[in-house]
Amino acid sequence: MNKLDSELVRASLVSAGFEFVNRIEEADLILFVTCSVRDHAETRALSHIGNLRAFCRKRPDVIVGVMGCMAQRMGAELTERFPHVRIVCGTRAFPLIAGIVAEATRTGGPVIRLDEEFPENGPDREPSQRPSRHSAYVCAMRGCDNWCAYCVVPSLRGPQVSRQPREVIREIEALVADGAVEITLLGQNIDSYGRDLPGDYSLADLLEDVNAIPGLLRLRFITSHPKDLGPRIPQAIARLDKVCEHLHMPPQSGSDRILKLMNRGYTREYYLELVGRLRDAVPDIALAGDFIVGFPGESNEDFEQSMSLLREVRFQQCFLFKYSTRPGTRAEKMPDQLPEDVIVERHQRLLKEQERIALENHKAMIGREVEVLAEGPTRKKPEMLTGRTRRNEIVIFQGEAGLEGKLVSVRIEETTPVAIYGKLTNTSPV
Ligand code: SAH
Ligand code: SF4
Repeated sequence: MNKLDSELVRASLVSAGFEFVNRIEEADLILFVTCSVRDHAETRALSHIGNLRAFCRKRPDVIVGVMGCMAQRMGAELTERFPHVRIVCGTRAFPLIAGIVAEATRTGGPVIRLDEEFPENGPDREPSQRPSRHSAYVCAMRGCDNWCAYCVVPSLRGPQVSRQPREVIREIEALVADGAVEITLLGQNIDSYGRDLPGDYSLADLLEDVNAIPGLLRLRFITSHPKDLGPRIPQAIARLDKVCEHLHMPPQSGSDRILKLMNRGYTREYYLELVGRLRDAVPDIALAGDFIVGFPGESNEDFEQSMSLLREVRFQQCFLFKYSTRPGTRAEKMPDQLPEDVIVERHQRLLKEQERIALENHKAMIGREVEVLAEGPTRKKPEMLTGRTRRNEIVIFQGEAGLEGKLVSVRIEETTPVAIYGKLTNTSPV
């Protein structure tokens, strides 16, 4: 979501006449798009912002702004702590960024915007302004109503607001007309898309309508909440040809006791049942997950339950996070906050196990021929291309430039825990 927000900010500034520069010394405007989900992300952003102090003393004309979740959470505290910050733009104000920059330039600032209503249909998007020619994110909904006990998102991004289906479809049609072939629909809890709209239009209907757009090759959607993934979704993935066999569905923990404390609204058994239903409908589906390690009160037994869930599901990819206390959340006040060394040790063990599983999963691909969407040359070796399978695995293979944005066939030859190498067998899909 932050990546997409940055893209949209960039697009509205370009439309307002700004140009992007490669070196900070050439900049007149420096904006930070920030995340507050974990403390680490905030600490890093604050350090980058602090480091600009000397630069701004030499260049007092430069406007520095902070946008996104940390701006929303800290508000005026940011300008008090860092007088060189002249814009604080909250999570619902970024569509107004061009006007906010103009105001800060005129008045010298600080301009602080935290209470805006997000425009009903989002910022008007200029389809040609995006970093990847072939893949694009599209926001289907903003905010979240779930209030997981550890999470700051609902308080910083506000309640769930789904965009009108016709707006989402219009935006995708414009992106496809401009060369995008892969679309990823975004929402904090994408499976509850439409619940706040009149009528009973849901994510399954949106997938069906987007799938019908000519010229589009692949469609993905993230993130899925286990409690909201309805019975029509496995069928939609199985039936709709462009919808990829990949689902990001974080369990967060494998222990019922911790899931309850987290306010996740499902049990371990329900999660496993759901995985079973998904695999029955789509046998080759790749599952990605998130786990939080060291939630307050997590005992060794609770942790072992997460370990066993990770083993049982055999995720294709897992994001494993050390629990981070966030101000204002329910978990912040919970008893039995765990010491850092316990969290670090458990986190390491889980990481190691996932690495082992990933390597086994990758090895099982050797010899198989897969459909890859070619993305572009690798950074180190320009004669090598990277691309993704429908299951979202990254594949590196030798191939000439003109293949970008095309579906090709690749035979997998070699793997490591992080990379999969293959040989181009056909410049059209399997
Ligand atoms: N809406 C998505 C994810 C949003 S945040 C969902 O519900 O799946 C992305 C991930 O960050 C979460 O899945 C969770 O694993 C992690 N996360 C959120 N708050 C956290 C915290 N306080 N400490 C550690 N990890 C956290
Ligand atoms: Fe945060 Fe839970 Fe909402 Fe995801 S579903 S954004 S983890 S509150």
